[in-house]
Amino acid sequence: MQIFKVGGAVRDRLLGIPVTDVDRVVVGATTEEMLAQGFRPVGADFPVFLHPKTGEEYALARTERKSGRGYGGFTFHASPEVTLEEDLIRRDLTINAIAEDDQQNLTDPYHGQRDLEARILRHVSPAFAEDPLRVLRVARFAARYASLGFIVAPETLELMRQLSESGELQALTAERSWKEISRALMEDQPQVFIQVLRDCGALKELMPEVDALFGVPQPEVHHPEIDTGLHTLSVLEQSALHKQPLTVRWACLLHDLGKGLTPEEEWPRHIAHEHTGLNLIKAVNERFKAPKDCQELALLVGKYHTHCHRALELKASTLLELLQSFDVYRRPQRFEEFIGACEMDARGRKGLEQRSYPQADYLRGAAQAAREVAVQPLLEKGFKGPELGEALKRERLKALKAYKDRASA
Ligand code: ATP
Ligand code: MG
Repeated sequence: MQIFKVGGAVRDRLLGIPVTDVDRVVVGATTEEMLAQGFRPVGADFPVFLHPKTGEEYALARTERKSGRGYGGFTFHASPEVTLEEDLIRRDLTINAIAEDDQQNLTDPYHGQRDLEARILRHVSPAFAEDPLRVLRVARFAARYASLGFIVAPETLELMRQLSESGELQALTAERSWKEISRALMEDQPQVFIQVLRDCGALKELMPEVDALFGVPQPEVHHPEIDTGLHTLSVLEQSALHKQPLTVRWACLLHDLGKGLTPEEEWPRHIAHEHTGLNLIKAVNERFKAPKDCQELALLVGKYHTHCHRALELKASTLLELLQSFDVYRRPQRFEEFIGACEMDARGRKGLEQRSYPQADYLRGAAQAAREVAVQPLLEKGFKGPELGEALKRERLKALKAYKDRASA
């Protein structure tokens, strides 16, 4: 049997960037031989094994054929007769279809090195269209390698467009889609992921609520970029520049969905978009089965981002309601993420990227003031049950009034 490194490990070594995980393909072996050598089988779908010592992935060379809709509709054929070239041709991109042996000799039948050099993401063969997940993968690689100058080949974008128009994207499972989306959002240029999906018509299929933001104007005084879609891309860009976690990036993507529902006669104003957007955010959350913390933060940011921008003008009672809604006493981290997302929203505007955002520290201070209200003295006064809750609220309100006075002094 012969073993080759494939995929990301070869690609990233050739690009001179750190290799994180190593995938290998095994040519000329049977499942029985692999098991006899101590490899542990994984995955019900394909003949993939884990190395007994390193735990790295070894897959038997295989061919694939589409036999129905979606990912379930795949039949594969793995046998010792399958050649390296046959295995490589089923891969998504030429730059992912280079194999390397122990001596670093490369097998590159589909000219991946040429495309690495030219900074092009190009599909290997027309079989690309057999798995709609590849549309998301290419958009994710575009986001990851945008800073190196990579772009999607026009003919690949065209195939992605055909795939999107065919409705096949609807057959993707939430789990497979979320894995790509979440990884793409954590790249350095997540806005490129959304842009590429939009360019090939996939955004309209996957997240019509986000797609609908393009072409919707906002008031130029607050939004020099005017277009809500462009604003959303800038907010995502800022979230990566500021190294925000996934929860914040997801919330950034969805924060303005309500603006896509505003009747044209009301443009460029978007009264109550925070509320109209909530059902849309919920729908997108559920479509991709986003993790609970991502879902929760997206909804909270959608509902309250304007509160954050107006923090310095809020009455003490409104401030208190905001802090209560976030349960800042038990969930300080979530409130911090909320502030982070709102700051990205404020900076994701043309020419305003470097603005100061005093609202952030102001709200941190308010949360601190409310947290410092001690329960013990109230207990000593004999408050309990719902009355204790009310008394605590009154004390926190007092503390927030004092905080406001100090801040404006
Ligand atoms: P990463 O650095 O993100 O791990 P990778 O290219 O190694 O990038 P993997 O998901 O680990 O991506 O897949 C390893 C290889 O398997 C890819 O490089 C590609 O050749 C192939 N591959 C994975 N998923 C697909 C797919 N859906 N369609 C076609 N080829 C795929
Ligand atoms: Mg990999």
